[in-house]
Amino acid sequence: MKCYADHGPAPRRKSRPVRVGHVAIGGDAPIVVQSMTNTDTADVAATVRQVAELARAGSEIVRVTVNNAEAAAAVPLIRERLDAAGVNVPLVGDFHFNGHRLLAQHPACAEALAKLRINPGNVGRGAKRDEQFATLIEFACRYGKPVRIGVNWGSLDPELLARMMDENARQAQPEDSAVVTRSALVASALDSARQAEALGLARDAIVLSCKVSGVQDLIAVYRDLAARCDYALHLGLTEAGMGSKGIVASTGALAVLLQEGIGDTIRISLTPEPGGDRTREVVVAQEILQTLGLRSFAPMVIACPGCGRTTSTYFQELADRIQSWLREQMPQWRGRYPGVENMHVAVMGCVVNGPGESKHANVGISLPGSGENPVAPVYVDGAKTVTLKGDQIAADFQRIVEQYVIDKYTGTAARDDSPAADTAHA
Ligand code: SF4
Repeated sequence: MKCYADHGPAPRRKSRPVRVGHVAIGGDAPIVVQSMTNTDTADVAATVRQVAELARAGSEIVRVTVNNAEAAAAVPLIRERLDAAGVNVPLVGDFHFNGHRLLAQHPACAEALAKLRINPGNVGRGAKRDEQFATLIEFACRYGKPVRIGVNWGSLDPELLARMMDENARQAQPEDSAVVTRSALVASALDSARQAEALGLARDAIVLSCKVSGVQDLIAVYRDLAARCDYALHLGLTEAGMGSKGIVASTGALAVLLQEGIGDTIRISLTPEPGGDRTREVVVAQEILQTLGLRSFAPMVIACPGCGRTTSTYFQELADRIQSWLREQMPQWRGRYPGVENMHVAVMGCVVNGPGESKHANVGISLPGSGENPVAPVYVDGAKTVTLKGDQIAADFQRIVEQYVIDKYTGTAARDDSPAADTAHA
């Protein structure tokens, strides 16, 4: 396996670890994957179902919106049903505008949540802002819950922004308004965190985020934030968008920051297609961390893009089949075969790069390209072991991979021989 030790990510920025239920964010803890539901929280059955799906896909923390009395009343029931189903993923409550009232009227909601998310731009206006912010922090202190102070430029505190714009206008050489807006985001997060501490919230019960929808803005904002505090940081490109655009934009932004050692937890804010699968955001978050070599979640399939040498769609179908099958096995394999998440499987379209790439993987196959013998050599731990042929190549190859997992990972301590292992806690 390749060693990334001398050209991997920068050491993780030192942050104060924060406990969110049984999950740690920051400090030496691995970077945590989070997600958020899009069900009506008041619909207990639908929300329980989606939280469970997100958790099964690998989300380590799930956020739900708590936007009204019905949602606040539903939260303890959701927690109860998840616990009964053996789903112990911590829940975070997302509060805007009326959180101070909802928590006062529904103490069981505060009890059931593992963390509160407060947006300082949506707490209240004028004198009420400080009063309502203080009420929210008092609830967090009373129930022993950490808080994410989550600033978003779609709801940046208008009074703070106006004040900073006015100050900037009085300068001899005013900054561009985009620079002032970025500074206001960071100031909003840091001022709110200081205010929360002054109200009694422990420093290690605070996570910060400053989300924007522009890649370069996000990178600039988080570099600034990271340099100015030691709070744990939640990364995410807000309103990333749909499909490949959302994935590319999120990956572009987060890869730069994670490579610089910035970020303790991530969420990918993808817009699902109508009827689309909400768990996609979890898979993308995991794939970003795994392809950067920061964590391992599921065996990785290395597949060539295919070209004029590939004879049919069989090669794509096999790569897809193996990738889906490996991911489906992970809920059972994770406990039974420690270290299997570091495995690499190569599925290649012809012998040009097939054998070479297969030798680098734990298990690899090269399907026959056009004009080649209709056979598929298989490599295991770098050595050719068998040549498959006929209609059963896919099923035979899947059996070989499964046997490899049983032989290599049964009853072993987690083997950290993957690229991820070199940098997992860097
Ligand atoms: S390995 Fe073969 S089929 Fe795949 S892209 Fe390279 S030449 Fe084409």
